[in-house]
Amino acid sequence: MSTAADDLVLALRRGERRALARAVTLVESTRPDHRRTAEQLIEAILPATGGATRIGISGPPGAGKSTFIERFGLDGIARGHRIAVLAVDPGSKRGGGAILGDKTRMVELGRAPSAFIRPSSAGKEKGGVARRTREAILVCEAAGFDTVLVETVGAGQAETTVADMVDMFLLILPPAAGDELQGLKRGVIELADLILVNKADGTLLDHARRAAAEYANALHLIRPAVPEWQVAVRAVSALTGNGVDAVWDDVARFRAALQATGAWERRRADQARAALWAEIGDGLIERFRAMPAIAARLAEIEREVTKGARAPTAAARLLLAAFLGAAPDT
Ligand code: GDP
Repeated sequence: MSTAADDLVLALRRGERRALARAVTLVESTRPDHRRTAEQLIEAILPATGGATRIGISGPPGAGKSTFIERFGLDGIARGHRIAVLAVDPGSKRGGGAILGDKTRMVELGRAPSAFIRPSSAGKEKGGVARRTREAILVCEAAGFDTVLVETVGAGQAETTVADMVDMFLLILPPAAGDELQGLKRGVIELADLILVNKADGTLLDHARRAAAEYANALHLIRPAVPEWQVAVRAVSALTGNGVDAVWDDVARFRAALQATGAWERRRADQARAALWAEIGDGLIERFRAMPAIAARLAEIEREVTKGARAPTAAARLLLAAFLGAAPDT
């Protein structure tokens, strides 16, 4: 590793903020030389990672995610936590514009010395976003943060991507019943380890409480993802802070329950294994597409397959044979 990279690792381990920002920028870069340095950096810091509680936070736009994160983060700091906030936003064309980029969000938390907030950068490919965020989590852990919050917007693939890289998945919902919720994918509810019905204040208090009771009922019909933990539903107010600090107790109980049976470590091992295979798959596909013999024929073969003129299996075998430099067996 270069001396510059060595220095970066040392500064990062000392928790220096500028080093942290630079390291995250490095793992976010897609430039091949940056990628190589980023990989060396990750290898070097690996022994110092894994210590944080990684929490995914999702929910539909307007549910109150950023208001919650600000409150929850400040409560956490008061409890002595050091908190990093990352964003995953594969859908956004304006690098993180839709999420966290807005300067008015999380103003107070952003100023706190014990917090680090990082908006997402524009993500082109899904795999790239997952890798960047996974590595950014490790960088934050090496810099001494004990809690990493990964925020994502509650509409689509991003939830599954995030759920696959965190220890606990927290869903924030507006005070409306399930069938009134627009745009929230059913499957997202099933990813949740904890559901917070937000805006339980003022005129919305009753709505929020009723919605929370409904979700709790519905959840009893779903088999929990891990037997150690019954998904909890809470009515909270990110605005007044009511019920927010208690979420830290839920997080601690969740962690203790899963650690007691080894489920915590198993989940992380599974995630690491899945990440390995995702990297292998991405790498192979990248090479495959880039190979001239493939690139020259790919568009045409794909067209034939979509028209029904060629069977997908035979077409794939033909291309794979070309990729592997073998004569296609018939
Ligand atoms: P996000 O899009 O999920 O990040 O939602 P925001 O945190 O930006 O909040 C959306 C709107 O809901 C803002 O106008 C907030 O002030 C408001 N809001 C957030 N939390 C609460 C809450 O607990 N109670 C009430 N009444 N309003 C809230």
